[in-house]
This record gives sequence, structure tokens and C-alpha cells, in this order.
Amino acid sequence: MSDIRVRFAPSPTGNLHVGSARTAIFNWLFARHHQGTFILRIEDTDQERSKPEYTRAILDGLRWLGVDWDEGPEAGGDCGPYFQSRRRSFYDEALQRLRHEGKVYPCFCTPERLQDLRTAQLSAKQNPRYDGRCLALADDEVAQRIAAGEPFALRIKAARLESVEWTDLCKGLVSIGPEMLDDIVVAKSDGYPTYNFAVVVDDITMGISHVIRGEDHISNTPKQILIYRALGATPPRFAHIPMILGEDRSKMSKRHGSTNVVEYERQGYLSEAFFNFMTLLGWSPSDDQEIFTRDEVVRRFSLDRVSPSGAIFDINKLKWMNGMYIRQLSPAEMLDRAEPFLSTLEGYPGDYSREQRVEIARQLRERIELLTEITDAAGYFFHEPAEYDEKGLAKAAKTPDLAAVMEDLAAALATTEPFDEAGIEAAVRQLAEARGMGAGKVIHPTRLALSGRIAGPGLFEMMHVLGRARCVTRLRRFVERHPWEF
Ligand code: GLU
Repeated sequence: MSDIRVRFAPSPTGNLHVGSARTAIFNWLFARHHQGTFILRIEDTDQERSKPEYTRAILDGLRWLGVDWDEGPEAGGDCGPYFQSRRRSFYDEALQRLRHEGKVYPCFCTPERLQDLRTAQLSAKQNPRYDGRCLALADDEVAQRIAAGEPFALRIKAARLESVEWTDLCKGLVSIGPEMLDDIVVAKSDGYPTYNFAVVVDDITMGISHVIRGEDHISNTPKQILIYRALGATPPRFAHIPMILGEDRSKMSKRHGSTNVVEYERQGYLSEAFFNFMTLLGWSPSDDQEIFTRDEVVRRFSLDRVSPSGAIFDINKLKWMNGMYIRQLSPAEMLDRAEPFLSTLEGYPGDYSREQRVEIARQLRERIELLTEITDAAGYFFHEPAEYDEKGLAKAAKTPDLAAVMEDLAAALATTEPFDEAGIEAAVRQLAEARGMGAGKVIHPTRLALSGRIAGPGLFEMMHVLGRARCVTRLRRFVERHPWEF
């Protein structure tokens, strides 16, 4: 293990969001690349919006993505607890120390006064910030007001006179002048630490070496650096990764597709395809390779190849990639992955053996991009087609004596031995030859009669799995129905 320690710090106020998942993945890749430690910390201090079921959903989402954590909920570790709501003593202790060292001062200003100050500054076109009034209070007045029970917040002393600079591993040098800084509040008047203070105390006490997070957090960084200074701690390295954008280059939202990772699982994406796709949202390798095994991305990942500007979420690319991954699955794996979807089909699994179902999965693997599409593609294996494709019927009607051809084929198939791909093919071709017609004139209506469709896997391999009984019955049913005559 190296000294590199990174964390993913979601707030459990919703399911795992696409943007958060990408942050988790980049942290995980960075940790694994450097043999560092990846920590999961749940930032559940917003008591109204945080819910245990969201924590559960986030953990499940990370597991689905194959992002495992070395320390955190359900993993343990030496720097716990890993829920902010259980870390109050760390924050109180750090606040105590700051007070003792005279690094903070009590601020008695009411929300109304702060609001008035802000309004006045804004109308004077100034950057709104605290004017330091309570820093000027005499010690005995402060003591008196505290003794009288007047509520107060704690602010960092004279932070608004400092300047802050850091070299961001994605954005480069960022400099913030004193006019942008403030005597920031570290504890609210109810005694609770502020968000930024809790994050810094956690990052220090968990030994975090690199903070990799979305650039929507970049405005917190100067504040956090001021807190590190007050606490006498060295800030970690920061990397602010670009936002995920929709195809119109606006911030990704529900308009552009689901923002919820679990939805992608439900829609039939493979986790490894989704993971691969996410790695390319902001990061790119030095060549144009796009399909990577997990180990390959771990080996190749580096923050200096993360683009400083937005990453576009291209759903068509994700779909394409999913199709690529589906085709790489072995037939048995394909069946295992597709079974949750297949089992919703009427007639599934019927009398098909596992071996036959693996064969069905193999035949359909080439024809779908999402696992959910398999229910539509595989239906006719498990139940008779209820209707036949219109165009297919119009075309079938052009086969002379169609009913007789289909009846003859049914009769031939009833005695075809062995009933395998080669045997079936021979039966179909012999029939076409005997009637002096091209094989296509038999093949197309047969596919239609058996599946209701005009496209699908190779006809003979499909018939082999369907089996003799289904083929014969469906051909006869087709003849009885005469659907091409309507
Ligand atoms: N809890 C924050 C969030 O969910 C992350 C804070 C951080 O990474 O510093 O966006």
C-alpha cells in the first residue's frame, strides 16, 4: 500500500447519481493505480434529507459498478466511524483547539444584520463578505455576552486578509485574492460544525492525500484551505474533475436521460460496460482505445489526462458500448445476465433445458444492445407468435401455393432425422427444389410462420432449438390461419 488515500464522500440524500458515480470511479481508479486506499465516507449531516435507504442504495450502486472500498461502512478501518453524523467528537475537539489557540472568534451578528450587510455590499457592487465587526469586540464584552447566553457562531480570525493558491491536478494553478475570502464560519450558533469544517476535519483525521471531486465543489476549496491553515495542517492535493454535460452541453439532468445509476441496471446495461463508459467521461487515454478491461484502465488511468472542461454523456455511445460487451459474453454468461429479464416472459423457461436456453442466448447475443431487448427478441421461443409481421405476410403471399408448401414442410419436418441444423436445412432445400422454387421462397415464410418476424437468428439454428414439435405445430397453425390472405 502506498501513502495515497482518497475518499468518496456522498451525501445520502438520493440514489447514486451518475455524477457521483463518476467521482467514485475516478477516486477508485486513482487509488488502485497507485496501490493506495479508497475510503467511503457518508456525509449524512443534513438530518432532514439524509436517509438510511439512500446509503443502502449508494452502497448497492457502488457494488454493482464493481467499485470496492478499503475503509468505510461495512468494511471497517482505523479511521472510523465513516458516517459524519457519528463524528461529532472529532469536530468538537478541533473547534475546542481552535478556540484555545485563539484562531477563531465568536460572532454575535444576527442573521438580519448579516443579510443587511450583504444587501448593502451587493448594491455597492462589492463582494459580499463579513466585515469583521465582532473581531473588534473587547475581550470583556465577549465574555459578558457569552455568559449572558447570547448565541454566537465561530469564525476564523482574519482569514479575509489572506490569499489562497493551489495547483489543481486537473485545472492547474488557481489563485484567490483576499477580496474573495472571508472570516468563514466553522461552527454555527447551535454549536454544529459547518459543512466545510466537518469535511476538513474528516479529511485530516482520515489522512486523505488527494481530494478528487466534481468541479461544482471548487468554490469550497479556498474556504477549506483556510480551515487547514487555522488547524495547522497541510492541505491535500486537489483535483476538480469536469462536470458531466448533456449533448446540448448544459449540465446533465433528467432531460438528457436518467441521472440515477440504478436505472441503467434496470434498463439492461451491463455494469462493466457502464463502468467503461464512465471512465471516459472526462478521462481519455493517450491513444483512441475505448474498450478497456478494468485492469487496463487501472493501469492507464492518470489525473493529468483528465480534461479540464466538460464531459459529454452520449447515450448512444453507451448503448453501442453495451452491445460490444454483450457480444463478448460467453453464451452461458449471456444467459445468466439475461435471465432476470427472460424470466418475465410468458412461457419461460417452458420445457427448454439449460443447454437449449444457453443456445437461445447465444443466438440472440448478436442481435441486442440492451439486456432488456432480449424479452422482445426471444418471446417466440417461449410462446407462439400471436401475430405475423405485415410486410412479411405481403411477401409470403408471393410464394405460389404457400399453404401447400408450408404443409409439405410440416410433413417433411415431422420425419426429418436427425432433427438438427443440417437435417433441417436439407429438408427445406429439398422441398424448394422439388417445387422448382428458390430456397428463399420457403425460408422467409417459414421464419414468419415460426416467429412472426422477418428477421432473427439463422433460420436452421433457430428451428433446431425450437424443436420438431413447435416447428410442425406452428407451420400448421399458420396454414390454418391463412393470415396472408387478409
Ligand atoms: N458530500 C459532497 C457531495 O455529496 C462531497 C464533498 C467532497 O467531496 O468534498 O457532493
